[in-house]
Amino acid sequence: MGGRVWNHARGVTIEAFGPAQAVDGFVEALRRTPPPAADIRELTEQAIPARPTARFVIEASEAGGDRQVSIPPDLATCPDCLAEVRDPADRRHGYAFTNCTRCGPRFSIALEIPYDRPATTMAAFTMCPLCRSEYEFPGDRRFHAQPNACPECGPRLSLVSPTGEPLSGGDPLECAAAALRDGWIVAVKGIGGFHLACDATSAAAVTRLRQRKRRDEKPFAVMAADIAAAQDLAQLAPAERELLMSVERPIVLVRRRAAGPVAPEVAPGSPLLGLLLAYSPLHHLLLEHAGRPLVMTSGNLSDEPMATDTADALARLAGVADMFLVHDRPIASRCDDSIARVVAGQPVLLRRARGFVPRGVPLARPVARPVLACGGQLKNAFAVAMKDTAVLGPHVGDLDDARTLADYEESVERLLRFLKVRPELVAHDLHPDYLSTRYALRRPEARKLGVQHHHAHVAAVMAEHGLPGPVLGVAYDGTGYGTDGHAWGGEILLAGYSGFERIATLRPIRLAGGDAAIRDVWRVALALLDDAFGGEAPIEGLELFAPLRRPEIALVRRMLARGFNAPLAHGVGRLFDGIGALVLARRRASYEGQVALLLNVAAERTLRPYPFELDLGASPWQLDWRPIVRAAVADLRAGQGPAAISARFHAALVQASAELLRAAAHRYGPLPAVLSGGCFQNPLLAEGLVSELGAGWDVRLPAQAPPGDGGLCLGQAVVADAVLRGEP
Ligand code: ZN
Ligand code: ZN
Ligand code: FE
Repeated sequence: MGGRVWNHARGVTIEAFGPAQAVDGFVEALRRTPPPAADIRELTEQAIPARPTARFVIEASEAGGDRQVSIPPDLATCPDCLAEVRDPADRRHGYAFTNCTRCGPRFSIALEIPYDRPATTMAAFTMCPLCRSEYEFPGDRRFHAQPNACPECGPRLSLVSPTGEPLSGGDPLECAAAALRDGWIVAVKGIGGFHLACDATSAAAVTRLRQRKRRDEKPFAVMAADIAAAQDLAQLAPAERELLMSVERPIVLVRRRAAGPVAPEVAPGSPLLGLLLAYSPLHHLLLEHAGRPLVMTSGNLSDEPMATDTADALARLAGVADMFLVHDRPIASRCDDSIARVVAGQPVLLRRARGFVPRGVPLARPVARPVLACGGQLKNAFAVAMKDTAVLGPHVGDLDDARTLADYEESVERLLRFLKVRPELVAHDLHPDYLSTRYALRRPEARKLGVQHHHAHVAAVMAEHGLPGPVLGVAYDGTGYGTDGHAWGGEILLAGYSGFERIATLRPIRLAGGDAAIRDVWRVALALLDDAFGGEAPIEGLELFAPLRRPEIALVRRMLARGFNAPLAHGVGRLFDGIGALVLARRRASYEGQVALLLNVAAERTLRPYPFELDLGASPWQLDWRPIVRAAVADLRAGQGPAAISARFHAALVQASAELLRAAAHRYGPLPAVLSGGCFQNPLLAEGLVSELGAGWDVRLPAQAPPGDGGLCLGQAVVADAVLRGEP
């Protein structure tokens, strides 16, 4: 069989010639077992006049037209490459940069489009004759594999000290692995950036890394050599196993085995573990030599962007890592590890980056003009939508430091360049102080549109599921700017693309000290109590308040009573913070969402819900949580443990939401329900609501775009487009 294949604006055309059976077999194989990296949206076939040829060639891409993205995502090492790396007789034995057309770096090494070797950071490496013949022979697994390399001609590893001096003596990988076994911290240059690695089974090593990285309690991800090793560390459901082994290789949040070898310091106080499998030959070799799971956390200090460049890594991480395992293949685009979790049996992306970016999200309703959507403030990601595709950029992070903001702006420009697109519309959040909003307003494009935060959360799910709308959108998160200037976050919206109506919201909670209450969660607990008991609630005997000084409590109470520097907020995330603080006796959150997460994992089974009230006379309707708080306090005083209280709290929230949705459906008709916002990362809440609504109700959850603020950009893009088109 022979023929040719080429890329063009609409996709790929393959002309295949040969005996009918062979051609049919080829089409069948393409349908049934496409290459793991392929994302076939549509496959049509047609008979053409025979042009017998023995060769199969890749022709130059057709120029012109507006090209869809031509750069694939970075893919995990394939089994064939891994077998070569492990085969002592193979010329790539032990070679950390082995790859082929089915695997290896792509997006992270691309400098320009079209994606071709000279336009990647591999340009500086001249292929040796053997590599070149693989690259040029159509029958080879490495035919046109742009990063193709071998120990003769490709990138090389070295091990250096924090001052950049080469550490001599033996194989860099083996030396690094030996150091890791001895409890040292090694910075490892990987695919999309630097990791900080240490022995995940050593409490001392993990504690040292925590201190040096200035990270108190935020969990570290752990890398296992393979799925068998992963199973020793965590209890894995089939869907979790599949997600761990997928070519995208995200970090997957799973339940840690209590008696497993991972040191508890990896994720203090949490039964969950962020687990991932080795995804490059470098990782496979390092883990094999180390012979144990390794912490693999981003190479940065606190919340800065992860380092990608060796000089920058040495400058920033010299005080953290004892040595640096580096290589000479530059990283062009930073790309963090993606994070996923199985919720309601489906994978949900919590952070979309390596392995997924820049693969497009298909839009059932094409946009009229190219849109740049700038995203939110925390866990920022941006998107570019054109025609029937939205391309989400890699997770950027919290836009609150200058370095992250600079990184964000560069990342936007780079993606626009890769896509060869000039936006004609810029979409942003309504919050005037989000740095992404300010960036949007500074951009040169004339047309700009603000999109309400929770409307964007809901529209993102509508877009990825191709729902025409209207829908009943449940958007529960920590906070988002409302059209009235208040902090929303417990919203049920009747939503279409171009507009929404706010049907219901959570009874607002006073945040004494504003943002200070997000960290000092005891302030939220106090606000819940005083509101629930109508005035100063009795707090004696509640463990949470015992260590606090009386004047401090009195000050917060004055703020709450007078509403001075204590704005009202509707966020369900805040309700979790307050109840969590109370039940777990935790005064402070050491990272955003910590207390909510700990409250969630405390619940072990479903129990009957606490009482709640719904005010359907109010406009919008209001979910009144005061009965929940009173019942929880009574249980707490009666000596109930967190597991039961948390379970009953979750059940109440599920039931209240379901009742609000039923009331909305009664008024507006049977509409699909969409669940979005950061709170739906919580499986108990998401699964509870799906099952409470029953099989007869069409309920959709985010899948490709994160439910949290990383998914806002997708919703912003489709909403802004619909508004500008003047849709009703
Ligand atoms: Zn491969
Ligand atoms: Zn070579
Ligand atoms: Fe949000």
